[in-house]
Amino acid sequence: MSELDTLRRECLGCQKCGLCETRTNVVFGTGNPDARVMFIGEGPGEQEDLTGQPFVGRGGMLLDKMLEAVELSRDKNIYIANMVKCRPPKNRDPEEEEVQACRAWLREQIRLIDPKLIVCLGRIAAFRFIGPDFHVTKEHGQWKEVDGRLVMGTFHPAALLRNPHQKPEAMEDFFALEEKIREICPETYE
Ligand code: URA
Repeated sequence: MSELDTLRRECLGCQKCGLCETRTNVVFGTGNPDARVMFIGEGPGEQEDLTGQPFVGRGGMLLDKMLEAVELSRDKNIYIANMVKCRPPKNRDPEEEEVQACRAWLREQIRLIDPKLIVCLGRIAAFRFIGPDFHVTKEHGQWKEVDGRLVMGTFHPAALLRNPHQKPEAMEDFFALEEKIREICPETYE
């Protein structure tokens, strides 16, 4: 069993915060464990909680379409995880103590997968990962160096469903990602 599988197994029994009492499933993450590109969302919604898979609702379908446009696929050449692994009731924002309790799982996931590029989906992930001054609307698509990795924030797919006029800007970010992949980790496309 790989270290990532062991981590997943431990995470599935996590009781570090109160979300363990209301969850149906822990949503650990999915994709290629050898991926050079990792996507990080906020936390599971209803469909994700029911299935144990990240981004499987309407937002997930949009994400898959955007990934497809730049020849990426969650089954093949990327890995997708969330900041928080259990669904906050009624899809509220995760609370500070929930994010803190979950931090170590994500940190270990990143250490084991060791991606070169990270894309934060939405305000909450970008705020936590890139920094509190990060504004998705102003700084989306820009690469920042965080702990030796290049990190970009872009719009959350659910936000794009609410504000479809932002889709072209979001798509530009995905094309910028494709360009960076071809520069830094072209093996992603091999
Ligand atoms: N929104 C997220 O941020 N993550 C998911 O897995 C689903 C919806």
